[in-house]
Amino acid sequence: MKKIAFFCIPAHGHTNPMLPVAAELIKRGNTVRFYSFNEFETKIRSTGADFISCDSYLPSLTEQEAKRLKNVSATEMTVQDIRTTLAMDDFLDKEFKTFRPDVVYTDSVCFWGKLNAWKHKVPMVVSTSTFAFNQISSQYIKHTLKELADMIFGLPRVSQELKTLEPYGYHVKSALSLIQSDNHTESVVYTSKRFQPYAESFSDRYAFVGPSVFSKANPNKDKARPLIYISMGTVINDRPDFYGKCVDALKKQDADVIISCGSAIDPETLGTLPEHIQTFPYVDQLNILSGANVFITHCGMNSVSESLYMATPMILYPQTSEQKAVARRVAEIGAGLMLSDDSADGIRSAVQEVLNNTAYGRAAEECSSDFRSCAGAAGAAEFIENAPHASDGMDIIGELNKADRKFQLTYWLIVIAVIILIGFLINRQYAWIVGIAAGILSAPIGKRIQKRKYASLVEKKR
Ligand code: UDP
Repeated sequence: MKKIAFFCIPAHGHTNPMLPVAAELIKRGNTVRFYSFNEFETKIRSTGADFISCDSYLPSLTEQEAKRLKNVSATEMTVQDIRTTLAMDDFLDKEFKTFRPDVVYTDSVCFWGKLNAWKHKVPMVVSTSTFAFNQISSQYIKHTLKELADMIFGLPRVSQELKTLEPYGYHVKSALSLIQSDNHTESVVYTSKRFQPYAESFSDRYAFVGPSVFSKANPNKDKARPLIYISMGTVINDRPDFYGKCVDALKKQDADVIISCGSAIDPETLGTLPEHIQTFPYVDQLNILSGANVFITHCGMNSVSESLYMATPMILYPQTSEQKAVARRVAEIGAGLMLSDDSADGIRSAVQEVLNNTAYGRAAEECSSDFRSCAGAAGAAEFIENAPHASDGMDIIGELNKADRKFQLTYWLIVIAVIILIGFLINRQYAWIVGIAAGILSAPIGKRIQKRKYASLVEKKR
């Protein structure tokens, strides 16, 4: 029987998959102490875990900071994560000394969970509520210019904040080292190996357990008329414009329509709704998805996983780069259609396409069977109970890094030789053109070589 400390950031999407894991660990006789926030108290307590409120340690935000957080600024999230860690330092020091956990189970972006596990030398397992993103699989995310600018211009601010951690005994090289998946951090990922991009690049310290959900319901799509479910998740769901267009698109549809619109929206703003369209601030999503025929989704990882678990094909309307990566994977397996035109007409024709083309439903069913064959919350609990794990598998990322270093060295030696030759044989003035061209070409050539090397390593691993 172990004592396990759970840590999570204040977000439904990150908390939800940890709940069935907590319940399972408790069922097996372990003690779970869940460090979280008042908003989640009821659902945490219902698992049987002890709830410890951390609300008083959340830093108060300036108007600007709150705005940047609302816009999902990676820099702002990192800065606030660091500040919360510092605010909790004293409190968690005492907690670790009195509770003395055997294992820490922490969300992948919850710095105070990770940093305290390292500081207090307690075995740690990371809960990954999105895809696992290492240096290969993160190529799946295509950042927008705005996001790139936020990260680049935010670097000095982040490194300044990181320095404040050092005197408290938290040693961090970079923010990336805290967030990105590496080969040795033990991790539970709530998806299957089939659905995870570049799954083979992860070591056997990664447990791909499939969706972690409470529902025992099976998909049941036999109804007199179709059910269309619409949700933009729990974070950026303040979208009356989009719900309005959905209402417009579906007001004459022979279907039942349920919109989960969050608590920030007054349903009155959507006008008088026809009887077959209902709005709610929050719904039992899994229950609805079990009977839904189409899900119009923002492509949060949990929503997509739950939809596939319930064999519901999707209309994909991602808003952030991470959601776009998830949407891309759903489209690749054929279980969803990307919403390229978000006007009422565009939504209407996307719904018709997914309802009429059975290929989407079949792909979702296949994924549902795959997810249901995974170990689930019970598998996650077993993995956590047995942490730390030994790993003797191949370190694919390490091998790729080695190959990249070799490529960079050879490439630049050749470039320098060419520049010297041109200088001697033609004209020194042309040498800088070669230098710039080589600089531009090195990234795509390097990527191509990495992809080839990856394929050969995967073959070898098999
Ligand atoms: N959810 C729910 N009812 C709702 C809306 C959302 O239960 O009305 C749950 C949903 O089942 C999922 C989580 O909230 O587990 C949303 O997580 P996701 O990763 O999809 O999106 P996020 O809210 O983090 O953007």
